[in-house]
Amino acid sequence: MTRFCSFASGSSGNAALLSCDDTHILIDMGISCRRVCQCLARLGLTPGDLTGILITHEHTDHIAGLATWIKKYRTPILCTPGTALQLEYRLAGISELLHTAEPWDPVYVGGPFTALMLPTSHDCAQGCGFGIQGPDGLLCVYTDTGVLPDHRTQAYLMSSDMLVLESNYDEDMLRSGPYPFALKRRILGEEGHLSNDTAAEIALSCGEIDTRTILLAHLSKENNTPQRALETVGAPLEAIQWGGRLEVLPRYDMSPVYTMERARCSE
Ligand SMILES: [Zn+2]
Ligand SMILES: [Zn+2]
Repeated sequence: MTRFCSFASGSSGNAALLSCDDTHILIDMGISCRRVCQCLARLGLTPGDLTGILITHEHTDHIAGLATWIKKYRTPILCTPGTALQLEYRLAGISELLHTAEPWDPVYVGGPFTALMLPTSHDCAQGCGFGIQGPDGLLCVYTDTGVLPDHRTQAYLMSSDMLVLESNYDEDMLRSGPYPFALKRRILGEEGHLSNDTAAEIALSCGEIDTRTILLAHLSKENNTPQRALETVGAPLEAIQWGGRLEVLPRYDMSPVYTMERARCSE
């Protein structure tokens, strides 16, 4: 059985765990090493149980715990070549742990899992989302992007069984909110973050195909609320009588453990 659990989600830190049997893949480490260890312990795991770490991009809310982690544990780290360069600038001793793959090049990440880096449009060196294929289906994690960069990415997300999708801001709240103009423009721009409205469009296209679980991620603290995100993304899904599960990942706390089932295979 494949399990997914978010440890934290939002601009104050992102980390999540994908597991199957003895394989445990951490996706981003934007919370402290100590908090990662605490979350692992709550799942009955130790740092040595981690098979690998996938990093989406070099922004602090995705790598904050790495500096301490790599001093203690020698876990392999996978990211794009552009992100790898940025990590080497920032973190001494990380080079020998780094493995890289270009977007769309399938890469084996351990146990039953193979990953694809999905291109994003974000103000970083070479950010990516992840499509991770395992025995119980495809998990896509897609955050920190201003837009969907191309049709291929959209089509790929639509083939996910479980989708972790950024739903960063409500456009009205952002426009009328306290952020300075330049920051508003950055977030709204093509290299910023996904709005609730855009997430709703993506979620609808996925729900229309066969995605059974959609988890909204990386919500802004100032420009969104979980309720607003759920309403905006949920309304069009309700209209098509989608029978799947739509939830918001907590900002600071661990999420429930979501399981992936072999729904398609058993039909
Ligand atoms: Zn982020
Ligand atoms: Zn970012």
